[in-house]
Amino acid sequence: MTETRNAVILGSGCAGLTAALYTARAGLKPLVLEGHEPGGQLSITTLVENFPGWPDGIQGPELIENMKKQAARFGAEYDHGHLVSVELGAHPMRLRTPHGEIATRTLIVASGASARWLGLASEQALIGHGVSSCATCDGFFFREKEIAVVGGGDSAMEEAIFLTRFAARVTVLHRREQFRASKIMLERAMAHPKIELRTNTVVEEVLGVEEKEVRGLRLRDVTNGERSELAVSGMFLGIGHEPNAKMFAGQIDRDDEGYIKTVNNVFTTKNGAIVPGVFACGDVQDRRYRQAITAAGSGCMAALEAEKYLEEHGH
Ligand code: NAP
Repeated sequence: MTETRNAVILGSGCAGLTAALYTARAGLKPLVLEGHEPGGQLSITTLVENFPGWPDGIQGPELIENMKKQAARFGAEYDHGHLVSVELGAHPMRLRTPHGEIATRTLIVASGASARWLGLASEQALIGHGVSSCATCDGFFFREKEIAVVGGGDSAMEEAIFLTRFAARVTVLHRREQFRASKIMLERAMAHPKIELRTNTVVEEVLGVEEKEVRGLRLRDVTNGERSELAVSGMFLGIGHEPNAKMFAGQIDRDDEGYIKTVNNVFTTKNGAIVPGVFACGDVQDRRYRQAITAAGSGCMAALEAEKYLEEHGH
């Protein structure tokens, strides 16, 4: 029989690591399952300018590494695994990972959200061959090349600005007229001499499947249906994220986009009734704010509720 843990945290982004810090300081010796994208979205970003306490900003990976060390100092443990399956109805709950089974009294779901793709066959065929969802990971390979960024939100603007470090020119392709990005990010992108913004434009096909290397995009202007080709060596997606919560289907209520529904910030439900001992925080339950600081805040709340739950149940 495996040892029963007091707290297991799924995900090692900003929410999960804050939950780890709080539960560790409460003496709960949490186990953090780091998941498929250790460190979450901050670990693949560059300068974070809006996390309070860093007047000159801090690099995302450094911020994450600091959080990880901080929680470890109080006894948090880390496992590279991810969740294979889960049984929330049992008490203690049972989690299966590639490394075996874990029993836990509380579970904090901080599994975040992953980059979204357009879903074109040509796009999928060329992932890693010029198609990428991570500018900070792959931008380096596009020195002096022409590239496109798809999307009209802050991520797209941030990626486009970052990619100008390498690329000769960056064309941002957005499917409608109005941008979703915040004013400050949009203005930065618009003012950049290497960035061109094209609205009302969708990607119909990524060209280069036979050559196994992106050579261009077939575009359609949605206002008049006109098609054109844009010669680029790379296409970066900046079109938002999908919550990583599919493994909870049938066990926790989710909304129509798959985000975990929470009540009183971090309590999860099944058919509207509270699921005892299971809390959710960060981007997996937040389709509105999705900021590092809000993720950290909800990670703290989830940890405090887990602590309270254990106390109430005599642990
Ligand atoms: P987002 O705000 O949801 O924007 C996604 C963009 O992609 C939208 O413009 C959307 O178009 C477009 N899009 C979605 N699906 C598409 C598809 N299938 N084909 C073409 N276009 C598609 O996502 P985000 O930019 O990742 O930002 C998420 C949150 O993080 C926001 O709150 C944002 O402020 C924050 N964030 C902040 C910063 C920063 O401040 N430095 C950086 C990154 C992210 P429509 O507009 O037509 O829906």
